[in-house]
Amino acid sequence: MTTTWRLDELGDDLDPGRPRELSAALVATFERLHGVPPAGVFAAPGRVNLMGEHTDYNGGWCLPMALPHATYVAVRRRDDRRLTVTSLQQVGAFSIDLDGLDPASLRGWSSYPAGVVWLLEASGLRMPGMDLVIDSRVPVGAGLSSSAALECAVALAACAMAEVAVDAQMRRRLIDLCVRAEREIVGSPTGGMDQTAALLARPGEALLLDCLTGRTEGVSWSFPEASLLIVDTRAQHSLSDGQYGDRRAECARAAAALGLDLLREAPDLGVALRRLTDDILHRRVRHVFSENLRVGAAVRAIRGGEHRELGRLFTESHESLRDDFEVSCAELDLVVDTALVEGAYGARMTGGGFGGSAIVLVADAKLARVRAAVTSAFAERGFTRPAFVVATAAGAAAEVESLTR
Ligand code: ADP
Ligand code: MG
Repeated sequence: MTTTWRLDELGDDLDPGRPRELSAALVATFERLHGVPPAGVFAAPGRVNLMGEHTDYNGGWCLPMALPHATYVAVRRRDDRRLTVTSLQQVGAFSIDLDGLDPASLRGWSSYPAGVVWLLEASGLRMPGMDLVIDSRVPVGAGLSSSAALECAVALAACAMAEVAVDAQMRRRLIDLCVRAEREIVGSPTGGMDQTAALLARPGEALLLDCLTGRTEGVSWSFPEASLLIVDTRAQHSLSDGQYGDRRAECARAAAALGLDLLREAPDLGVALRRLTDDILHRRVRHVFSENLRVGAAVRAIRGGEHRELGRLFTESHESLRDDFEVSCAELDLVVDTALVEGAYGARMTGGGFGGSAIVLVADAKLARVRAAVTSAFAERGFTRPAFVVATAAGAAAEVESLTR
């Protein structure tokens, strides 16, 4: 029996837009707000993590891929030391004096851009005053890292205005600096995967990241007859912050019980697990160790073009996150279960959990059915309508438009 799906059941797409068009519109907005054109427009991408969840703070591995969805920053240098920032995603602009700025006084979204500029200056680079106007196609809070996209785009814009060349070494410095801005000034724990993907990704590749050493390696992504579908569940359960902290604390306790600094590698998983009598710690460790092994296995599957094996690893990862690490939720489980019923190769939650997005590896021929089935399943359960992206691997943060400089 073939099923036909009504078009209105297919759900919404999160459109990345065209960089040139978005940039031209942002230039026009900047001119309207400031009466002069910007000196340049810089963009940094969001990302999706293919494998390696809750491994970063355990010194493990992860495998993000940059998306064509980016945050754009139009910038112009000022003659004074004021930093003004407008975001088309937020109500109200802010304006601060870079002299005498106390980063502890920053609140809300302003702490991301101002935190980056403040840390650039604190690291010894003299920052001029600047006007910034921001627009973004990275959905906020969907687990696709709108925060790192914002930090990294602002970092490139500010470096250009300060006439600091951004070579490969400087990109590495900017990763650390943006991570520090989010940890120390915004005050949210971040492992560094997002900023690394935003600043180092290459088009057509996923990025294997060793979170302990910062070493990265490109992994060419090519599945000609399969799609990587991202499903933004639009769910964000309020538990997430406290639970994230709990998981980190449990991992630290388990590492201490095993006499390890970090749950990076189990020389022998069986031996390690036998030594942990606490059921919760046992399951947390089983997730972290097995997830790290799955990152290596996923890299081999991607390089070998083995879509079935990669799909199997996705599903195994989801089961581990759901049952052993306990960070999934009803919406994420529903995406995975529905996609598997519809014949996807595999599916998993991605990001920290308790909401955000899931990823599905699916044959192109089954893509529309999976989308329709997920949309209907969400409607039946009374969940908010999900949004979809067919992911392609984009490149790192860069200048999109150079105007008057
Ligand atoms: P995500 O998973 O999307 O990174 P976070 O909670 O880490 O979610 O970051 C989201 C926060 O980043 C927003 O609440 C806002 O403060 C800030 N942010 C992200 N994008 C923008 C934007 N375009 N303009 C202003 N602030 C933004
Ligand atoms: Mg974030």
